[in-house]
Amino acid sequence: MEVKKQNERRLVLFPAAYQGHMTPMMHLATLLHSNGFSITIIQARYNSVNPTTYPHFTFHFLDDGIPENTVPAPNDYTDILSVLNTNCLEPFTECLGEILKTSCISCLIADPMWDFTASVADSYKLPRMVLRTGSVSTVVVYEYLQVFKHKGYFPLQESRSDEPMLEFPPFKVGDLPPEVQHELIETIVKETKNSQGLICNTFEELELYSIAKARKALSIPIFPIGPLHKYSPASAPSIWTQDQTSISWLNTQAPKSVLYVSFGSLAAISEDEFQEIAWGLANSRLPFLWVVRPGLSEGSKATDLLPEGYLDIVQGRGHIVKWAPQLDVLSHPAVGGFWTHCGWNSTLESICEGVPMLCLPCFADQDMNARHVTDGWKIGIRMGKGMKRDEIERVIRKLMAEKEGEEMRSRVTTLKEKASLCLTKGGSSYKSLESLISYLLSF
Ligand code: UDP
Repeated sequence: MEVKKQNERRLVLFPAAYQGHMTPMMHLATLLHSNGFSITIIQARYNSVNPTTYPHFTFHFLDDGIPENTVPAPNDYTDILSVLNTNCLEPFTECLGEILKTSCISCLIADPMWDFTASVADSYKLPRMVLRTGSVSTVVVYEYLQVFKHKGYFPLQESRSDEPMLEFPPFKVGDLPPEVQHELIETIVKETKNSQGLICNTFEELELYSIAKARKALSIPIFPIGPLHKYSPASAPSIWTQDQTSISWLNTQAPKSVLYVSFGSLAAISEDEFQEIAWGLANSRLPFLWVVRPGLSEGSKATDLLPEGYLDIVQGRGHIVKWAPQLDVLSHPAVGGFWTHCGWNSTLESICEGVPMLCLPCFADQDMNARHVTDGWKIGIRMGKGMKRDEIERVIRKLMAEKEGEEMRSRVTTLKEKASLCLTKGGSSYKSLESLISYLLSF
């Protein structure tokens, strides 16, 4: 990436300490640096990125009181997040104060999962923007959560989960975030609304309707400048070591033949689900690359759960790794499908490489993302919770080897082209980035 002459303006970026939040924030940092800004990163020690990967940035670490190697509870990160929010307030305030003693900061760009950046920035009279690392649709749903409460959608009832939300297609009532997440959502809404602007990792052509709704609902400027990873794919930070045998193994496989299976950095499945998935993959007789991350299955090392003799049964056809170089995997010509939990990064990355999906949403915004994939853009098939091996085998074949999958591949290829075009001169994200840069220079 070409780096413009430094304009002496310093931005401080404060990512949330999770892979799916850290990655887009670091891509944003790289992008803004290439546009002439000096970059300071403040990060909690927990899940922090290695500063040597970013020699042009200044790093500060916050002592967060979380013991090393702590793993979040399955399908939940809110416990650790509330500890981080409590423990980081004071060190963050001090750190920002120290930086301000020696440098001028144009703007703080924070993840809205931090619940104190609005008040701290205000106390220093510092402009503050937020980076939303999920979809814009979630911004809108979160903003209207109170309205949905008044409409009686909560508490969520199983019997209503298939009811379409006429006010916000293609969502169904069951896609709404459950009550346990509402406290965090209120924080995200508060930190976003009080900011001077919202930067989004999406593009107009993907979320046209939601972006228009967000512009109406929020009285702050909105900058959809994504997909962020396409500006600087080489700089993707990784919490775990990426197993490069993923690529050497893919090199031995036929074009578009492999199903890539990964449920991101936090999602966890039950031991029963793990067994059914393992047998569904094996019985499909199609090649697969499966990320079995420690903690993927509740309470175990996960790979220990592989059925006896499994690796021999799938030899040559199945490759299992603990963590993959996902961007390189998805762009590999051998990959023809992605079985994903529909984290927003994974969803965007799959679209950008024209890979159709099997969707197994687990928690947070994943139900909403999956609904877009299956019912909105029609580029994927939903996998039901608790699916048995025969059904899994049938759906894998549908995506990888049947007409329905072929049609999805063709639709996602069209979206891939749009994702690429929006970044070129005159494209929607290109123009939005130009506006963002002018806005940042105005502070
Ligand atoms: N990822 C990776 N290797 C893997 C699995 C995931 O590098 O084996 C990356 C992936 O490319 C994505 C991020 O981890 O950028 C996961 O973010 P996402 O929003 O999809 O899910 P989360 O982990 O936040 O649930």
